[in-house]
Amino acid sequence: MAYRADEDYDYLFKVVVIGDSGVGKTNLLSRFSRNEFSTESKSTIGVEFATRTICVDDKLVKAQIWDTAGQERYRAITSAYYRGAAGALIVYDVTRHITFENVERWLKELKNHTDQNIVIMLVGNKADLRHIRSVPLEDAQAFAQREKAFFVETSALESMNVDNAFTEVLTQIYHVVSKKML
Ligand code: GDP
Repeated sequence: MAYRADEDYDYLFKVVVIGDSGVGKTNLLSRFSRNEFSTESKSTIGVEFATRTICVDDKLVKAQIWDTAGQERYRAITSAYYRGAAGALIVYDVTRHITFENVERWLKELKNHTDQNIVIMLVGNKADLRHIRSVPLEDAQAFAQREKAFFVETSALESMNVDNAFTEVLTQIYHVVSKKML
């Protein structure tokens, strides 16, 4: 059997995670990359990223996932953050309607800075907080459909659909990229 080192991969894709402060971006990232969750809202400043390699169609796809790390608080996300992104997760909090209303603004900013082929996933996080939900599933589904984005509800706390969200984005990017190479 052929030996493959950890650092070995066939594709490297940059994925950015955006959305209002406090919606759970950092925890989605840490859940996917390290299977960790934190109840603290850390205000790390500066850009951070995490990586994880998954297998798609027998190919090793390495995801380099960027976290705004608090920059969104100051509306100070630079174009360098978006540069070269092949996919994006736009996250809102299902319990805070304003974070869903702001998705439109995030989408606009994303489109202004990225290639038109970018794969976009709308993510309604904190789905575990069922009793205080304020964004109906159907509203988000309809919005995603209109914008030709994928959509999923997640819980970083309960580890629900987090792997699915990232894996789906990476798989779709892989399809876009492999189609381009034909
Ligand atoms: P960010 O500012 O978007 O990066 O958000 P964080 O990841 O720092 O999370 C903000 C707060 O929401 C923290 O207190 C987290 O513990 C909490 N949180 C994040 N994801 C979830 C979730 O899926 N469910 C619940 N109940 N809380 C969450």
